[in-house]
Amino acid sequence: MDKAYIMQKAREENIQFIRLQFTDIMGVLKAISITVDQLEKALDGELMFDGSSIEGFVRIEESDMYLKPDPDTFLILPWTSPTSSGKTARIICDISDANDQPFEGSPRYALSKVLKEALAMGYTMQVGPEPEFFLFNLDHNGLPTLETNDKAGYFDLPPVDKGEEARRDMVETLQTLGFEIEAAHHEVAPGQHEIDFKYAEALKTADNIVTFRIAVRTVAQRHGLHATFMPKPVYGISGSGMHMHCSLFKDGVNIFYDPDKEDGLSDTCRYFIGGVIKHARAICAITNPTVNSYKRLVPGYEAPVYIAWSHQNRSPLIRIPARRGIGTRIEVRHPDPTCNPYLGLAVILKAGLEGIKKQIDPPASVEQNIYEMDLASRKEHGILSLPENLYEALHELSEDEVVQEALGKHIFSRFVAAKMKEWENYSSRVYDWEIDEYLAKF
Ligand code: GLU
Ligand code: MG
Ligand code: MG
Repeated sequence: MDKAYIMQKAREENIQFIRLQFTDIMGVLKAISITVDQLEKALDGELMFDGSSIEGFVRIEESDMYLKPDPDTFLILPWTSPTSSGKTARIICDISDANDQPFEGSPRYALSKVLKEALAMGYTMQVGPEPEFFLFNLDHNGLPTLETNDKAGYFDLPPVDKGEEARRDMVETLQTLGFEIEAAHHEVAPGQHEIDFKYAEALKTADNIVTFRIAVRTVAQRHGLHATFMPKPVYGISGSGMHMHCSLFKDGVNIFYDPDKEDGLSDTCRYFIGGVIKHARAICAITNPTVNSYKRLVPGYEAPVYIAWSHQNRSPLIRIPARRGIGTRIEVRHPDPTCNPYLGLAVILKAGLEGIKKQIDPPASVEQNIYEMDLASRKEHGILSLPENLYEALHELSEDEVVQEALGKHIFSRFVAAKMKEWENYSSRVYDWEIDEYLAKF
């Protein structure tokens, strides 16, 4: 798609408004709406905005930024406002600073930079995500409750699964947004769902995840439900992950596959795994970026706790799905859906490339259920744990130069500062659990 095509489509389809979208450092979607009269100027990258109030962007004195629309992301949105006769479209934007240089604080730019590094080695990364989410009922004021909208479980069908109707509408909406949906099903916990869409190149997948999250939440609302991507909304039942299926391609060939190896995995794939495992504790700060993220990473709910890889079971950080040939891939299981997908993929890819460059051998794969191993046998296998909380993850990030480089100085420093504040805010409060446990006892 190019400028001429978009201008023509805008006329033909009676587009009135265009949302120019980007995400802040935390992965929150932001948009500036323009009317169609401004479209040409926008496509020429001449529209300015004030970035000073966007999370992690710039200081007041350097707040002017340019939006640089990526024409390939032009899309007509299916949820046009009932008060307007025309349609609304969106375009995802890169950002330049006042000197027209790529803005270091843009997460999309951080990912593009690591993708460029991969391309210089001849690689493109394909990623298929598996986002999970919960549907909760709304109260009479329209606010979300913690009451799930059904009592169903894994792969259950209607009428048990009342979320089915909303989920089907989500799938249809996503299809009109250009998604190829591969599977949609009820997940293990009551009210929990998963919708998987087809893998694509990393940048497109990151764009897709951002679109996915807003589409799912918008459709849920239309059904009188609240969709949340919070990783562990309810204690004692499964949390929501966003596993990432990753592979590298070179000249159209999946280079994670090697038919001559006993397990079908190439050395490149093994080194990639080695890199991700080596940097996993720092990567967590980005892929599991909230206080709540770490309440999902506990034993017993199919979420990883230990840093290991396996061909079979689901307890480790990385699982190798059985498919070989073009479908050979690794499933990175610790990311959750609060992660900024641009940054999450940037740090995973960076660690994987580092593994390839330095030929980092992964530890031996572990085929037992690690949840059932005691500390001594984990020690014997050299299996470390993921960080216990956000603070520990931020500390690891502050020590890991490879992961920091993937983010760039600007994003790294703003991210850590904002997240430390979040941690301090959380950890200094007094919670119900403490009152229940200590007030009467001491
Ligand atoms: N909900 C699990 C998690 O937190 C994953 C379940 C599955 O394997 O799909 O990662
Ligand atoms: Mg799942
Ligand atoms: Mg999975």
